[in-house]
Amino acid sequence: MKDLQRQRVFDLLQKDCSPLLGQEVNVKGWVRTRRGNKNVAFIALNDGSVIHNIQVVVDVQGFDNDELLRQITTGACISVNGLLVESQGKGQRVEIQAREVIVYGGADPEKYPLQKKGHTLEFLREIAHLRPRTNTFGAILRLRHALSFAIHKYFNDNGFYYLHTPIITGSDAEGAGAMFRVTTLDMKDVPVKKDGSVDYSQDFFGKETNLTVSGQLEGELGALALSNIYTFGPTFRAENSNTSRHLAEFWMIEPEMAFCDIHGNMDLAEEFLKYLVSYILENCADDLEFLQKQYDDGLIGRLQHVKENKFRRLSYTEAVEILEQSGKKFEYPVKWGVDLQSEHERYLVEQHFNKPVILTDYPKDIKAFYMKQNDDGKTVRAMDVLFPKIGEIIGGSQREEDYDKLHKRIEEMGIHQEDVWWYLETRKFGTAPHSGFGLGFERLMLFVSGMGNIRDVIPFPRTPQNAEF
Ligand code: ATP
Ligand code: MN
Repeated sequence: MKDLQRQRVFDLLQKDCSPLLGQEVNVKGWVRTRRGNKNVAFIALNDGSVIHNIQVVVDVQGFDNDELLRQITTGACISVNGLLVESQGKGQRVEIQAREVIVYGGADPEKYPLQKKGHTLEFLREIAHLRPRTNTFGAILRLRHALSFAIHKYFNDNGFYYLHTPIITGSDAEGAGAMFRVTTLDMKDVPVKKDGSVDYSQDFFGKETNLTVSGQLEGELGALALSNIYTFGPTFRAENSNTSRHLAEFWMIEPEMAFCDIHGNMDLAEEFLKYLVSYILENCADDLEFLQKQYDDGLIGRLQHVKENKFRRLSYTEAVEILEQSGKKFEYPVKWGVDLQSEHERYLVEQHFNKPVILTDYPKDIKAFYMKQNDDGKTVRAMDVLFPKIGEIIGGSQREEDYDKLHKRIEEMGIHQEDVWWYLETRKFGTAPHSGFGLGFERLMLFVSGMGNIRDVIPFPRTPQNAEF
């Protein structure tokens, strides 16, 4: 076969591919469908660079290798040399008239699971090793990429430094959720101390360690040196909640800013989210249109709505009053002091205000120890951003920078000092007002993709009883 440089389908389908029109090109990819008859075969070829396929036309009679042609079935991987021409048929502007074809790998039609279109998302979860080859997951994976890139770009353009916080952590002080233990101890012969507890001094790190639930505590150490940092990494929570919004392994973005109060924190969250939504609207139009058609006809409108409307900011206390007066019967009743559930958050966003909402000043007893205490003695300077269809997408706060207040709160909550001594020292040496938040990457993916289940916006979801792929 003639050695030609591979062209991405994305590039061949660009409006300005004309320099290649009339020339021989090479494409490689996976066969989505094959139609045709004894004389001519139409192959829809996809290489994942774009949602669209390129049509490859094969003059069957003119091809002497029948065995090779038989192997070109749905799922097969092929390389094609051929002439790029304007298409006679409708549905595509250009197509390739095949001259030479190589089959890298066939896919037995009796066995290949993605024969037909229209598989359920549940079925696709069972074949997570192959679902990247579907239109849906191609679109999702390209969106994940674009969103990740936009996140780094936003922070880079705005003077934030990317801080790599550890994945294995020695403290479980954050209290954000149950943790996964990291150990090299022999499970069949665990060393125990005299009092019967596990002797972690014999473990790999000489102490008990876990997978991190958040990079925030370390993020604060960075902010109190570099002023503005962000983290973007995997986080792990062993919460046994089988919901459509929770994963055991998910990615989190956590900016942390010195010299910033809760208002600056809210301003950043709103500007950042609007930037990301605009970026996706501008750069992922094809994938968004596909997802809108397939799963959620309100998708693009909802993205535009978020981009164009000022988020409504109000206190937790005001929100609870609205919920109490709504006359709505919630599954979980609301009263001052309870943690809000997704149904409450969505009522506020979707029915009451019809725009994203930022709630502030939550009761201190339902929030983490590090949040700045308000003068009322009851609330802390927390801020949660609530989105349509999702509920909580961001959780953040201004941090308590006063050593004595923070110390007292740590004692009240029964957190072991030896776990957080290093964190406390930042308040002893050059403390500063500072704020930050955590954005769940997959929650944002749910929002920008219109998908309904968080298992369908990450390549390999980790949920209770599920770590096959
Ligand atoms: P929720 O109340 O929805 O369980 P949380 O209050 O426990 O969330 P935070 O500790 O505030 O969450 O984490 C910050 C952000 O991380 C959340 O706003 C959310 O976007 C995301 N997040 C939290 N837990 C999960 C999870 N299990 N799977 C996916 N994303 C999550
Ligand atoms: Mn939260």
